[in-house]
Amino acid sequence: MTTTDLDCLELVKRVHPDFRAVWERAALQDQIALARYFLPKRSAKEVVEPTRPKVIKWYCPFAAQHVFPSGHRYCINSYVGCAHNCAYCYANGYTLDRVCPKEGFEKLVDKDVSDLEEFEVPAAPVHLSNSTDALQEGLESRYRHTRYALERMLDHRRRFTTITILTKNPGLPVRDGYLNLFKELNVLTLDNPKRKVFEREGLPALQVEVSLAFWREPARIFYDPGAPSVEDRKAAVVALAGARIPIVLRIDPLFPRSPVAGHKSLADFGLEEAQTLDDLRGLVAFAKQVGARHVVYSPVKIIQPRRRKMTDAMVRMKQVYRAMSYPEKPVWRGGSFRLSKDIADRDIVLPFLRICEEAGVKAKFCMTNLVETP
Ligand code: SF4
Repeated sequence: MTTTDLDCLELVKRVHPDFRAVWERAALQDQIALARYFLPKRSAKEVVEPTRPKVIKWYCPFAAQHVFPSGHRYCINSYVGCAHNCAYCYANGYTLDRVCPKEGFEKLVDKDVSDLEEFEVPAAPVHLSNSTDALQEGLESRYRHTRYALERMLDHRRRFTTITILTKNPGLPVRDGYLNLFKELNVLTLDNPKRKVFEREGLPALQVEVSLAFWREPARIFYDPGAPSVEDRKAAVVALAGARIPIVLRIDPLFPRSPVAGHKSLADFGLEEAQTLDDLRGLVAFAKQVGARHVVYSPVKIIQPRRRKMTDAMVRMKQVYRAMSYPEKPVWRGGSFRLSKDIADRDIVLPFLRICEEAGVKAKFCMTNLVETP
C-alpha cells in the first residue's frame, strides 16, 4: 500500500456520517479509489464531504444515505438551468434562474474520465441530468455537450454501468442521429466488471427516461410551457422504441384531480385540469404500447424556488393542497410542501396504481426507480 493509499484511508475516516455508508460497503481498494475521486484531499476540515468541482459528480450532495440510499452513482448536469420552464420544476429549489452552457464543459469531462481511469474507480450508474434537461433543444442542438459526454463514456465504458438519460425532448436524439450512439452505449464492453451480471439478468446498459406527464395539450401548455408537445414526444418515443432503445415513461409528477376536497374543481383554483383518470389511462396504455420497461411516478411537490417567487400555478396548487389537507396543513419537508402520505396515496397515487395494475404495466416510485437502477 502506498503513502497516498494510506492518506486516502485516513481521509475516509473523516467522511461525514451522511455519506459514510458508501465507503463502508466498498472493498478496501475501492474505498481508496472513491476517496481519491470524490474527497477534497487537501481539506483541513475535520469532517469532509464528497464535493468534487468537476462534472461527473456525486449523485445527490443534499441527501443523507440513510434517507436516500443512492450509493455510488454519478450525475452529470450538461447545462446550467432548463428552458422547459415547467411550473413544478424541482430544480428551482436549489438552482438560479439562468439557462446557459457550462464553460469548459468538454475539458472538465475529459479530466473526470481520465481521473476515473487513473484512480481505478469502480463502475457505477450515471444519470443525465438532475437539474437540467440534457437534451433541451436550444442548448444541445448548438453545443452538443450531452453528446460529447456520452461519447467519452463510450470510450471509457468500463467505468460506468447503467447510463440513464432523462428528457422531455426525445425528438432531438431521434432527429439528430444519436440512436447509434445509444445502441453502442447499451452494450457493456468485455472489460466492464458488471457485464456478466447485466447479461445474466437481462438488464439494459442504457435507458432513456422520457418525461410525459400529460395526455392533453392544454395541460401540457399550462404546466410544461417550454417543453415539446404531447404529440411530438409520443412520436419520438415510438421512434425510440422502434430502434429498440430501452424506454422508461415518467408519468411524473402526478397531480390532484377534480373534485378537490369533495366539491371544488381545479378550475375553481384557476388551474388547468392536469390529469383526468382517462388521461392517466391513455398514458399508461401508451407506455404498454411502446414496451416501456416500467413507468415512474411521484406526487407533485410544491417547491419554494431559490431566491425568487413561486410560479403562479404553484401558488394555486398550494391552495389545492391546503384544501385537500384541511383541517391539517400540507407537510413542509426538504424545501417543498407535500400532501401527507395518507392523503397523497388515497387521492393521487392509488387510483394511478390501479390503472397500471389493470393495464399490466409495472410502476415504480421515483426514488425506488433510482436506487434500483444498478
Ligand atoms: S424539464 Fe426538468 S429540469 Fe427542466 S424545467 Fe422541467 S422539471 Fe425542471
